[in-house]
Amino acid sequence: MTPRKTNIVIIEDEPEITRFLEASLIKQGYGVKTASDARTGIKISSAHPPDLVILDLGLPDMDGKDVIKSFREWSSMPIIVLSARGQDSEKVAALELGADDYLTKPFSTPELLARVKVALRHTMRKENTEEQKYSFKALKVDLLKRQVLVKGKEVSLTPTEYDLLAALARKEGQVVTQTELLHTVWGKNSGEQDHYLRIYVQKLRQKIGDDPLHPQYIFTEPGVGYRLMSTD
Ligand code: CA
Repeated sequence: MTPRKTNIVIIEDEPEITRFLEASLIKQGYGVKTASDARTGIKISSAHPPDLVILDLGLPDMDGKDVIKSFREWSSMPIIVLSARGQDSEKVAALELGADDYLTKPFSTPELLARVKVALRHTMRKENTEEQKYSFKALKVDLLKRQVLVKGKEVSLTPTEYDLLAALARKEGQVVTQTELLHTVWGKNSGEQDHYLRIYVQKLRQKIGDDPLHPQYIFTEPGVGYRLMSTD
């Protein structure tokens, strides 16, 4: 039996971007369907639910955010949104409505493929919840043992620092918004205390030996949040 193809739906009204996305994904062996407006995208996705959706936020017939809401009524499939540079509040809103990640236009093929792979890997992890170990080059995070190692040496973190790192590790490779981190680590009543986050990210970076100017692990997504990932 041949394994089923991983299917991706692209909802984007700019033909050049659609062609670029389609060609890059087909080359990697993905099955691809495309739609140039929201209604068609929703229709083809509900007729044959794909494994992942790439969604432009600026569509001619509907706001991309409403498309996310509509998908989230019936599906938890990964959604990667496409947005223009400088639309940080749009990205944050899309992530808070349930999008999994975003790409800022213009983006490269390697960036696109990395985001797609990470999003699909998270779907696999959800199905296999035993997997609790994360590895980012020399940084290892074991959520069952609550253990953090850098180059094989255990790093001693405070509970808050650990919770912050764990929240980022659980979404490895994907952006986590500031609000989500504040809620996860400090609770729902944490309010808008972004400075907490900055201070603790700084402490965490010091302890794991990450240089904010040349990060290896924790990447700042300006105006949106943080992303923990391995770079190679
Ligand atoms: Ca558009």
